[in-house]
Amino acid sequence: MKISVIGTGYVGTVSAACFAELGHEVVCVDIDSSKIEKINAGIPPIYEEGLSDLLKKHAGKKLSGTSDYRFAVMNSDVSFICVGTPSDADGNIDLGIVKAASSSLGEALKDKKDYHVIVVKSTVVPETTEKVVLPIIEKHSKKRSGDFGIAMNPEFLREGKAIYDFMHPDKIVVGSMDKRSGDLVASLYNGLNCEVTRTNPRTAEMIKYVNNSFLATKISFSNEIGNICKLLDINTYEVMKAVGKDFRIGPYFLNSGAGFGGSCFPKDVKALIGKAKNAGYEPLILESVVKVNEKQPGRMILLLKKELGDLKGKKIAVLGLAFKNDTDDIRESRSIPVIKELLDNGAQVSAYDPMANEFMSRLFGNIKYNSNAADALKDSDGCLIMTEWDEFKSLDKEFDLMRNKLIIDGRHMLAGRKGIKYVGLCW
Ligand code: NAD
Repeated sequence: MKISVIGTGYVGTVSAACFAELGHEVVCVDIDSSKIEKINAGIPPIYEEGLSDLLKKHAGKKLSGTSDYRFAVMNSDVSFICVGTPSDADGNIDLGIVKAASSSLGEALKDKKDYHVIVVKSTVVPETTEKVVLPIIEKHSKKRSGDFGIAMNPEFLREGKAIYDFMHPDKIVVGSMDKRSGDLVASLYNGLNCEVTRTNPRTAEMIKYVNNSFLATKISFSNEIGNICKLLDINTYEVMKAVGKDFRIGPYFLNSGAGFGGSCFPKDVKALIGKAKNAGYEPLILESVVKVNEKQPGRMILLLKKELGDLKGKKIAVLGLAFKNDTDDIRESRSIPVIKELLDNGAQVSAYDPMANEFMSRLFGNIKYNSNAADALKDSDGCLIMTEWDEFKSLDKEFDLMRNKLIIDGRHMLAGRKGIKYVGLCW
């Protein structure tokens, strides 16, 4: 099948490369020409494990890039909208980019004679595909639904493991308004060992939000329990290990720490809150999930102040800037509020991340970035662990370089270092 992918960020590039690997012919579209140049040169525009190999293998053969929507639509049977869906100032979903991409797709579809299916892969609140995307496509293409197909196919990949997740999904959801477009979208995944859940677009949209909101709820719940355990001198990890043995609960996402970040959980929970309120419901649990998450990073600073007193002039090493390990993505990273609060308290921040120094330097130009953990730790008065990078687990002698050997661990990674005052966030 011939596929066009609109938006070459994390989801678009990974989907494009994996569809090419599944044997499809893929053309990528982005308004950022530098990303298109990279794709055509076989260079990933974002970091993702295994992506470089797939792009090298398929670029110039099964995979290409263009900024020309018309070319992409004319040369494909199906177009996936993979553009961003950020939050607006009130936390509601901002559909501006989805609307822009839909208009361009509609225009491009105008002169096309063959059947074409538009698929929304971006995470959008229920009703968006039917009530926002479809009317825009109809208006700009001057066609009616049925002349072209429309479907919703949410993406569940995890950054850092995105290629693996795409190729080994635990669910594929296809929501369509008619059987023909649903069949076509489902067939694109032939070859993957996974049942396809077929439904309507608004249910597909809701499945994605419930998935992310449930995981975010598990994290905030675990963090709240961790905060209580800390006050009662109980190891929350021991508690959750036992609790997770209950098959109705399961062992995953029960680790307490500095909270969730990234481009999905925070904005998706807020978007579902906005949609629920819009529909006339006050979502108390979801609101608490966000509140617990927003307070959690501040607890790192409270613990630091408890140990060091006034932070003014103190040098604090921050290890980990990415929102999680194995990615350079800093969107909503929990290290952002932590660094902000350190600076507000007059501390000097000495940071290190294996991949995300550069992205964070665009946000905070006034802190020191180091090319390794040892340099970040040198002469520091305390160290905050913010991201669960594997390489931090093997740090040892590096801590001898600290002026004051204090670790506040936000990710439950470094307990048991001799000669170091170790403080766990919730344990
Ligand atoms: P991103 O911001 O990394 O990428 C979006 C891309 O779209 C950018 O390259 C941008 O230049 C491009 N773009 C913007 N306007 C455009 C236009 N009019 N036409 C063509 N291209 C345009 O976003 P992402 O992280 O890949 O997320 C995309 C969607 O997928 C979001 O809705 C997100 O919630 C969802 N999602 C993301 C993840 C994830 O882990 N990142 C996982 C599942 C679902």
